[in-house]
Amino acid sequence: MFESNGAPGNGVRFAPRENPISQFVNGFEEATTAFLCRYTGEEPPPNMDQRIRDALEQSLLDPCDISLIPCDRRTCICLATPLSRQPFDPLHVHSLLDQMRRKLAQPEAPEAGSEGAERLQIMPLALVSSVGLLQENLEELSELLDMLVNRRLNVQFQAIVHLNSGQVFGYEALMRVPQSGVLRRPGALISAADRARLVSWVDIACQEICFTRASQTGIKAHLFMNMDAEGLDFVHETDRTLADRAAESSISPRQIVLELTERQTVEDFPRLVHYIEELRRQGFKIAIDDAGAGYSSLHTIAELRPDFVKIDRSLVRSIENSGTRRALLATLNRYAMQIGAAVIAEGIETRDELAVVMEIGVTYGQGYLLSRPNDGFRSLRREIRDLLEEHVARRRLRLGSSPFPVGKAARVGLSFPPETPIETIANKLQKNPDIESVVILAEERIEGLVMRERLAQAVSSDPDCLSRPISTLMDCQPLIVDAETSLEQVAKQVAYRRGMRFHHDVIVADNGVYAGVLPVRALLETITDLKVNRARHIHPITGLPDRIAFEQEASLRLSQGRPTVVAFGDIRHFRAFLNAYGVEHADESLRKAAGAIQDALAEHPHADPFLAQGDYDHFYLLMAPERAEAVCREIVRRFDEAAREVYAAEQSRQGYLETKDAHGQTRRSPLFCLRLAGVSSRRQPIHHLAQALDLVRRMLPRVQTTQGSAYLLE
Ligand code: C2E
Ligand code: MG
Ligand code: MG
Repeated sequence: MFESNGAPGNGVRFAPRENPISQFVNGFEEATTAFLCRYTGEEPPPNMDQRIRDALEQSLLDPCDISLIPCDRRTCICLATPLSRQPFDPLHVHSLLDQMRRKLAQPEAPEAGSEGAERLQIMPLALVSSVGLLQENLEELSELLDMLVNRRLNVQFQAIVHLNSGQVFGYEALMRVPQSGVLRRPGALISAADRARLVSWVDIACQEICFTRASQTGIKAHLFMNMDAEGLDFVHETDRTLADRAAESSISPRQIVLELTERQTVEDFPRLVHYIEELRRQGFKIAIDDAGAGYSSLHTIAELRPDFVKIDRSLVRSIENSGTRRALLATLNRYAMQIGAAVIAEGIETRDELAVVMEIGVTYGQGYLLSRPNDGFRSLRREIRDLLEEHVARRRLRLGSSPFPVGKAARVGLSFPPETPIETIANKLQKNPDIESVVILAEERIEGLVMRERLAQAVSSDPDCLSRPISTLMDCQPLIVDAETSLEQVAKQVAYRRGMRFHHDVIVADNGVYAGVLPVRALLETITDLKVNRARHIHPITGLPDRIAFEQEASLRLSQGRPTVVAFGDIRHFRAFLNAYGVEHADESLRKAAGAIQDALAEHPHADPFLAQGDYDHFYLLMAPERAEAVCREIVRRFDEAAREVYAAEQSRQGYLETKDAHGQTRRSPLFCLRLAGVSSRRQPIHHLAQALDLVRRMLPRVQTTQGSAYLLE
């Protein structure tokens, strides 16, 4: 087939600046349209170039000069210049390509069969509108062709992390380019490929490397692959679908997340939606990349129904200093959840950015802080896992007992592999009348859900179906929620879901791994119960659990025999502060003080702390004895810091407050501070809570607060 400039076989190199490219440059005129043709099978048939020429000639509307420039055995550039020297209409180029593809897919003669011909991929190399650009950037183009044809591209992998568990959920494949030429950055290469309409070729090259590497290492995490929206058209038209190519490396489409970026506005949106639906049917998951960067509107996001929304780094950068970006991220996060998509915050570089992202409740994160792009599939460093754990604890405390994660309400359901006969499952459901659904799992991955109702309908309308595999009945897009999602959020997702009923089940996954099911009915009942219970046991000023909630928790810990410190604290001189500043400021200050205690506790998640509020300025605290000293030290430090901030600057500097008493006498009152006393069940047996509280109340007068907040542990 295509002549090469060396011996055929693996050793063939494409010398871009000498041979094909100079031919290309010399043959290129103002009115020329070029196509890159590549045979993707093993051995190209001998008459391939003639067939390309014939197909092109038969598809042309006007007579043209045609030349074929061989690049390697399987690749050539095909130039067509109309004799009239009038360039093709861009629309004509598309229909021309369509026709050529069709012609090449037809068998040459009935006995010759169609094999081989169908494996030809054709890409328009430059549409007429970009000829000028192309000529200006020949160096760029030659490099690009060289990389593609000689496979000089590489791929690195960057971890996408489930922030609550610190587990790697997947890896994004990022293209890497040789550092010798003009296209050293992936962005530059993608722009060059964009101009030459070759992005899909780049994508395919990267996908192939990615599949090979993933199958060599046998990783089970998800693979996130970038894909140009325009390129979807192309993927659809090649003979080997993406699913075929993945399957050749034993990778299931369910392991793959396709990241779509809209670099240009998509001209034919319904067509894009159609392709995405098709890919989804094959099991691929879809992510919208760079959301918030201005490419994709909320409307586009909703229409494409992605599984993931990746928030662009421009929104995450220094988010701790920008109320606007923070509000935008929170809104996008809420919106994504409502349409059933999980959010991934991209480009997290600093601890402060991570803190805000986690505070907002974003599920997944990616960025240099967590892990840099790497040649292999790395897991997270210990230090980063600890940091994530600390943030999770902080968030839980800050929110008090308010969000109840769906994972806590989920039940263990029935699960089966996709090939299980329908009959086996029908029998199982008959024996378990309380179970409404079965989850279909391939290894640990969730493949789908079958509701009892659906199975019953299928069996009654076609009894022969009993021998068929259950995968033929399953809903491939059940509602899957992360175990950490709050019940209220899940209820919102259910409400947004078309066709979801009271007796349906939601699947709960922990970092993508199946964890259980939750019937919609149970979900709503739990929410109602919790609301009633919570309203009863929340302190109205700080939102902390109240004394009753504390008594329940303390009794539970003591009855389980868990070593526990029971502590009680009051705020000294708070009355004077309240009298001087008024109730509103005092309440606000109390909230700040409680926040400072919560921040201190969040630094010590292993102490398993539980904080509650008693009367106005009283706090109760439970924690594990091992870290009690460190916890109390931190509480005292942070409390004083917060206290100083709520006084007027002068009083804070003086260290006291001047007030008048009932007789008009001026009195000095020290700044308010916390005194905290705790007893450990390790040091003295605690039989019941009242005994412990009695002990600590009696200890309080011994806590020395002349220098500010202080504590005493016994
Ligand atoms: P993207 O898909 O949004 O990928 C994320 C980019 O952010 C990557 O840049 C990654 O290295 C970078 N990044 C990750 N963490 C951080 C961080 O903490 N701070 C900063 N400043 N950057 C971070 P990269 O590798 O240079 O890729 C740039 C873009 O090129 C990608 O953006 C993607 O749109 C495109 N691209 C990369 N590989 C492919 C590919 O195989 N096909 C296609 N079509 N596009 C690709
Ligand atoms: Mg991406
Ligand atoms: Mg991105």
